[in-house]
Amino acid sequence: MKWEISTLEELEDKIWRCTACGNCKTAYKFGPPPAFGEICPAGVEFGFDGMMASKGKIAFARGILDGELEWTEDFLDAVYKCTVCGGCQNQCELDHKPFIPEIIEAMRRKAVAEGAGPMPSQKKISQSLSAYNNPYQGPRRVRTDWTRPFKKAKKPIKNINKEPADILYYVGCTGAFNLPARGVPTATASIFQKLGLDFGILGENEICCGSTAMRIGDAEEFKRVAEANLEMFQRLHEEKGVNTIVTSCAGCYRAIKKDYILAADYDKIMNGIRVVHTVDLLNGLFQEGKLKFSGELPMKVTYHDPCHTGRHLNKFEIDEDGSKLWKGAYVGLNEEDCLYDVPRELLKAIPGIEFTEMERIRDNSYCCGGGGGVMTGYGDWAAKNASRRIEEGMATGAEHMVSICPFCHYNLNEGSKRIKSDMQLYDLVELLDQVIPEPE
Ligand code: SF4
Ligand code: SF4
Repeated sequence: MKWEISTLEELEDKIWRCTACGNCKTAYKFGPPPAFGEICPAGVEFGFDGMMASKGKIAFARGILDGELEWTEDFLDAVYKCTVCGGCQNQCELDHKPFIPEIIEAMRRKAVAEGAGPMPSQKKISQSLSAYNNPYQGPRRVRTDWTRPFKKAKKPIKNINKEPADILYYVGCTGAFNLPARGVPTATASIFQKLGLDFGILGENEICCGSTAMRIGDAEEFKRVAEANLEMFQRLHEEKGVNTIVTSCAGCYRAIKKDYILAADYDKIMNGIRVVHTVDLLNGLFQEGKLKFSGELPMKVTYHDPCHTGRHLNKFEIDEDGSKLWKGAYVGLNEEDCLYDVPRELLKAIPGIEFTEMERIRDNSYCCGGGGGVMTGYGDWAAKNASRRIEEGMATGAEHMVSICPFCHYNLNEGSKRIKSDMQLYDLVELLDQVIPEPE
């Protein structure tokens, strides 16, 4: 399969457009009233000066292309101290804005291709992917452990390889293998069953979407699993009638929506298949009056926007032919794919919920701190950063925090435990499942 994944050399023109102004370290456009706040988790922890926000990362890229920098241990460490959250991208307004996370990842791809990256502590991600097809070193049979209560209750979930279904529920490795996050697939499947949706899972045959590999620069491992998935999606569409792929995982959603389109044949392969996040599917049913609530959930909550369902899904408009400004100019941004309003609308619709917002939200959301390989490579920093986000949530007076990503679920709960907070991170589906009644 042919892929259009940029090399650092191909991005050189963009790399030279950074003016090193430093605006990318601060979120400066939220409010009203207009407010300023930290946006770069790497800068907050390790200092902005020199290297830690995208200004520094882009300077690194220039140094590598110029041959002035080598992959020393310290340098690699600085390259990998980044959650690839895209917060910096959101602040920059110059022409390379659409490519900032791409530049950081291309730098990592070069490090991996030249045998230097990723960090030693992150190598187990690639090793596990190649041995187990998931980044958690989890044996295949464990992938379906979360389905046991359904079998026990005599409500088995279809195995889509054996029975046809309209919807493939692509569970994702974090929900399947990460014990504290297993509530996410459990609640998702429970809701789908209550709503009578025709869905199935791949069970032990599901393999990783490849998101983590891509974020740490292992393009080869990413391509291997992505190609297998794309071929499998096409086969399920043709042979099993799948026309919708739904996932509750922000990382899988981002990968399938944004990384997989780099496959030259993506449109052909995915023709007739739509990819949605669970909350989008549920919100559609809610708007049609097909999803109703019973009972109350008296809880004061705030909402955390995962980077991967938010600004990572920005669509940028670039003046390709120079007819609007100049060739290659960044001219605008379309946020129609970003899941900002949908989860909030559903959350606020739950009877009894009192909703309050944090300061840094939507496109200015402060990353949970676990992305970009950081949870594996720098676990203590990931949890420390999550504590900072939990503290922001606590400052609103909310009792609990809600999100739509099993990865944020795990990391923010780790952050909460670290500071002995009573605040819990719940996935939105875990709350919805409590107020969606069984069919009569
Ligand atoms: S990435 Fe953008 S905001 Fe950051 S230093 Fe470069 S030009 Fe300035
Ligand atoms: S992607 Fe996030 S962590 Fe990385 S440099 Fe930008 S703001 Fe900092």
